Amino acid sequence: MSRPKIVILGAGYGGIMTAVRLQKQTNANEAEIILVNKHNYHYQTTWLHEPAAGTMHHDRTRIMINDVVDENKVNFVQDTVVEIKREEQKVILENGELDYDYLVIALGFEPETFGIKGLKENAFSIRNIDSVRKIREHIEYQFASYNNDKEKKKERLTLIVGGAGFTGIEFIGELADRVPKLCNEFDIDRSNVRIINVEAMPTLLPGFDPELVEYAKNILERKGVEFKLGTMIKECTEEGVILSKDDQVEEIKSNTVVWTGGVRGNSIVENSGFEAMRGRVKVNKDLRAPGYDNVFVVGDCALIINEENDRPYPPTAQIAIQEAYTCATNLLRLIRGNEELASFKPDIKGTVASLGEGEAIGTVGNKKLYGSTASAMKKIIDNRYLFLLGGPGLVLKKGKLKLF
Ligand code: FAD
Repeated sequence: MSRPKIVILGAGYGGIMTAVRLQKQTNANEAEIILVNKHNYHYQTTWLHEPAAGTMHHDRTRIMINDVVDENKVNFVQDTVVEIKREEQKVILENGELDYDYLVIALGFEPETFGIKGLKENAFSIRNIDSVRKIREHIEYQFASYNNDKEKKKERLTLIVGGAGFTGIEFIGELADRVPKLCNEFDIDRSNVRIINVEAMPTLLPGFDPELVEYAKNILERKGVEFKLGTMIKECTEEGVILSKDDQVEEIKSNTVVWTGGVRGNSIVENSGFEAMRGRVKVNKDLRAPGYDNVFVVGDCALIINEENDRPYPPTAQIAIQEAYTCATNLLRLIRGNEELASFKPDIKGTVASLGEGEAIGTVGNKKLYGSTASAMKKIIDNRYLFLLGGPGLVLKKGKLKLF
């Protein structure tokens, strides 16, 4: 009898953790497991704000897939997914195709620009290793060029971050730490540099505890960040941004606009004909796509409603990892002929947002955390993930071991 073939698309948090769970739990020859990913490495998306600002080397965020995946149990295919042919149970790759008995879609997120003119073309986004390397190099180039220009251009030193959600705030915290070092390196007076955060909502970190938000705002302002809250980016041009607030329009010239204001699920999901809201499939409780009993969706491509407030859970690594556990359990049950599948229920342990070196805010359980304690907690969360993925060896190799 041929073994059931499980194909996992994407080796981010959701995909790689599903593969690792399956490799631990399947018996020899129980299933053929194939993991497909664009690159031969997994990267820690939740760390990307650091290499984007240049406060960490991007290599620290990546983990070679062969270091955590057992090639005797999981066949890794480095390729790019182009389309999923649902009815034919086939995945089209750039360099071939794969058929499957069971499919796990874990292709992650894309920036959502909400139709704002020029944003897609002119703004950077924090998305993967390639995108953050480009941001870091671009910013360094602006600083390096400033004193070489005949006429010193302020737009080279005006850094705009669109969006004050989790990613925007974590990035701006790192940027505020990096700027004094860049000024030092390139002989630039700090007062010539502007770091501006633009957010349409009246507050940063919407949904966070107001006291923690106030703390974050004070810390970042002390580091020289200017906030423009309740302000819309109307347009992003090659020269900068056009903002509007209360019918007042303002143009800020800038060579560096980084958009962090929204994400959606990978467009491959919608383009392959799955019913989705902004690229996210509203999955059944067992994480299967409605109408497709052999297709699971996890991570940022999946949409799950929080029954307590009837709103979707925000896309997070925390949820993606937990979904991977349920997804692997359910795949095992299916291949072992057990039709009774486990229901997924997120167990939100807390949320911690970093504000740069040694500073963070967060909640763990119902406890509020600030400053260095929150920052240490953030590192513990990061290390815990590495432990789940690759055991103590991976924590020692890639972990954040200096907590304070
Ligand atoms: P991803 O981690 O995005 O992985 C998707 C994978 O699919 C990648 O390996 C990618 O290369 C691959 N892929 C994509 N397209 C293709 C294709 N066509 N073919 C082949 N492979 C493909 N969440 C938290 O819980 N806590 C945090 O502190 C936190 N901080 C964050 C900070 C930043 C800067 C950012 C950007 C996000 C943060 N998040 C955080 C959110 C979290 O990173 C995402 O929710 C999480 O990465 C989603 O996991 P995923 O497995 O769905 O996708």
